[in-house]
Order: sequence, then structure tokens, then C-alpha cells
Amino acid sequence: MQTDFILNAAKAIQQAIVANENALESLDRAIGDGDHYLNMKRGANAIIDIQPALATLTPDAALQQIGLKLLSTIGGASGPLLASFFMSMAKTIKENGDDSISKIAASFAAGVEAIRQRGKADLGEKTMLDVLIPVSNQFVLLAAQHCDSKLICATLIDTAEQGMLATKDLIATKGRAAGLGERAIGHIDPGAKSCQLMIVAVCKLV
Ligand code: ADP
Ligand code: MG
Repeated sequence: MQTDFILNAAKAIQQAIVANENALESLDRAIGDGDHYLNMKRGANAIIDIQPALATLTPDAALQQIGLKLLSTIGGASGPLLASFFMSMAKTIKENGDDSISKIAASFAAGVEAIRQRGKADLGEKTMLDVLIPVSNQFVLLAAQHCDSKLICATLIDTAEQGMLATKDLIATKGRAAGLGERAIGHIDPGAKSCQLMIVAVCKLV
């Protein structure tokens, strides 16, 4: 993986977040406090602002800086969670390298595991993990089978969409929506939606 790819991914993510303002805002207004779009936009814009500095870094160092920047800009529950994703991904790449799809998949999986541990949440709790865990599992599996990267990305786009849609029928047991009980049913989780959007944006670059 090249630092250039990370910069292009950051641009694609920023565009996808801004293009989905209404969806992200209304989902968090329905089962949260309505700030998820603003949180994500602030984070995505902050990464665009530091692109000149990121461009001089190795991929792992760039991912580490992205994590640190998100930690200080996003806020909310999602800020520290997404920050830990990028910092853990950076650490794994630094230790193991990123010269194969399997290694990139392993670093993605380490990032998702960091979110799981930091948020003390798991699959089925109506959070971003309902997108990230299935995508991570599928990514690792397909990479181990030496699948073509375009096929992997097409599959991950489908997996992310299924995970995002599946949050609609769940009761939340983590995050702000956990206090709503059955009233959260019928609404997609905002963090699951933003993660799905980010995954689609990055996969489409491959
Ligand atoms: P806040 O909830 O503080 O207002 P955001 O609105 O930015 O923060 O983010 C809300 C999203 O964060 C939720 O939709 C959910 O996907 C995710 N989230 C909240 N708590 C957790 C957790 N413990 N583990 C994983 N994801 C979580
Ligand atoms: Mg919120």
C-alpha cells in the first residue's frame, strides 16, 4: 500500500461523508443526539487539511497521524473508536509490513479489534461493528484465498451494505441508542452507515 492510496482514500471518504449529510444527520437524530454527521465531517476535513504533511510519510506513519488527528477532532463516542482503528492499523503495518493483500487485511482486522476492545462491544449491538466485523472477517478470508483485489472489494461492498441494513432491526446495547430499548428498532445505526459509506468509498478506488 502506498501513502498516495491513503491520501486518495481520505479524499473519497470526505466526499462520501459530505454527500450523505442528510442520511447521517437524520439517523443520529432518530436514535442519538444528531451530531454524527458533524463529527464525521470535522474529522474528514481535518485529514484533508493535513494532507501535505501526510504525503511525506510512510503509510504506517500516515495512518498513525490520521488516528491522532481524529482523536483530537471528532469527539463523541465515534472519535476515540475510529482513532484507535487507524492507530492499531498503523502499528500492525509497522510491525508486519503491507506488501500483500493478506497483510493489509490483517492490519484492517487489527483496527477493528481495537474498536471492539475500546468500545467493549461486539457483533449484534447495533453499532459500527455490525459493519466492520463482517467486513474484516470477509477481507481476511478472501485475502487468504488469494482472491483478486477487485473481487475482494466488490464482495466487501456487499458485506458492508448487509451489515449496515441489519442494524435496522436490532436493539442497541451500546452507545446512546442503548437507552431507547425497542424504540431504536426501525432505524439504521448512524455509525454503521458512516462506516459502510467509508468502506464503499475506499473499495471503489481499487
Ligand atoms: P455520540 O454517540 O457520542 O454522539 P457519534 O454520534 O459521533 O457519537 O457516534 C455514534 C456512533 O458510535 C453510533 O452510531 C455507534 O455506531 C458508535 N458507537 C457508540 N458506542 C459504541 C461502542 N461502544 N462500540 C462501537 N461503536 C459504538
Ligand atoms: Mg451522536
